[in-house]
Amino acid sequence: MNKRDWIAKTILIVVPAATFLAALSFFYIADRADAAVVLRYTVVLASLSMLLAVEALYLYYGHSRSRPRLRRIGQERDFLQRRARFLEGRLAILEEDMEVLSAMRQVARAATAHDGLDRILDETLRIIQELISADWVTVFVYDDKSDTLLPRAHRRGLESYLGKKIPPEIIDDTSVAEAFRFESVIKQVESDRLLAAVPALTGGTPLGVVSVSAPLSGTSDEKAQRVEVFEAALKDIAEHIAYALRAVTLQTRAYADDLTGLGNRGLFDERIGEMVALALRKNQPLSLILVDIDHFKNTNDTYGHQMGDRVLREVSGLLTKSLRRYDSAYRYGGEELALILPQTEIADAARLADRIRAKLEKKSFLNKKLRITASFGVASLGGTTLTEDALIAAADAQMYRAKNLGRNRVEPSSLLAAPAS
Ligand code: GH3
Ligand code: MG
Ligand code: MG
Repeated sequence: MNKRDWIAKTILIVVPAATFLAALSFFYIADRADAAVVLRYTVVLASLSMLLAVEALYLYYGHSRSRPRLRRIGQERDFLQRRARFLEGRLAILEEDMEVLSAMRQVARAATAHDGLDRILDETLRIIQELISADWVTVFVYDDKSDTLLPRAHRRGLESYLGKKIPPEIIDDTSVAEAFRFESVIKQVESDRLLAAVPALTGGTPLGVVSVSAPLSGTSDEKAQRVEVFEAALKDIAEHIAYALRAVTLQTRAYADDLTGLGNRGLFDERIGEMVALALRKNQPLSLILVDIDHFKNTNDTYGHQMGDRVLREVSGLLTKSLRRYDSAYRYGGEELALILPQTEIADAARLADRIRAKLEKKSFLNKKLRITASFGVASLGGTTLTEDALIAAADAQMYRAKNLGRNRVEPSSLLAAPAS
């Protein structure tokens, strides 16, 4: 309280108190004192009454002045309450946007991880499902060979299905073709759910469609708002999926060998480095098989280069068919092919190589006129073979050993043998 307030409050208390006491004492002395005293008393009393009147006026003035201020404060309070309610609404929308943005970030991260399309799609479907509580989500990918949209990944409840493992009866492809053809979102808003087919576009080119079913609840305004948020989020997510699809297609083209369709030498060099590092880190076995077709020059010389090419393609096809889930096949160079076998011990790799050798030996080309055999060098990580170069050198040495020992055979390296360098 400042000095002025203090003086004012003191006066406001002292004046009425003094007037009251003076009035009481006036009645007390009125009969007993002489006229002069009564007169003086009356003057004091009148002065005090005057002060009281001034005080009353002052209070009245103060009150009437504060009334508009009170009204203004009331209005401000109402305004602030309305503003608070509005901001709460905005906050809810922003929180929803934040969720969408965080989902987008996760999708973008998944899409750029060099994890293979299946993993990217699986992760993306999980994110979509979490974001909009979808009953199911399907990604259809356009296949230009068959000119159709093929379901590539599907998630329903806690189950994920990929590629051919998707049971056809659980797929709803209503509106999917339309969304792809018209390159726009086709949605059906029912009373309690949203069905939407969203094209996956990059630079305006459709590469696939994301199809979802998500529940809707709340007032019709709330539902309409949710549909808007979902649609925007799904469009963005579908775009990320399209980027991932395009990246995978480009990568596949850049890494495929034109003649055989196997991974090319560039991909082999990349993969063998990654696989060796991973196997060493996880302390898991890793094997490499190098395959060289026997007397291939003779095949070319006798039956022509085109026949040679066909043989190469068929041998590659036979290799691919013999692979297990995590194995991969490459054209290492010329008529030399390579198989990388993660989590495979040397003995298992040698058995696989021998199965392939036997199948190839039995295969007939040119109506049995032509028989093809190959020599196999097999090596595994371990012992002194602890780098990719050492592994390749060891497999190569074994392959030459197989040639020298008469061809059409498998030569696995012994783990403890020093790699040829
Ligand atoms: P070896 O049993 O010692 O391996 O004998 P080889 O004749 O297979 O080995 P060599 O290295 O002497 O010859 C390899 C031949 O492979 C020569 C080359 O013309 C042929 N070749 C390499 N790439 C291709 C290809 O893409 N198409 C065809 N048709 N032939 C190829
Ligand atoms: Mg060769
Ligand atoms: Mg050869």
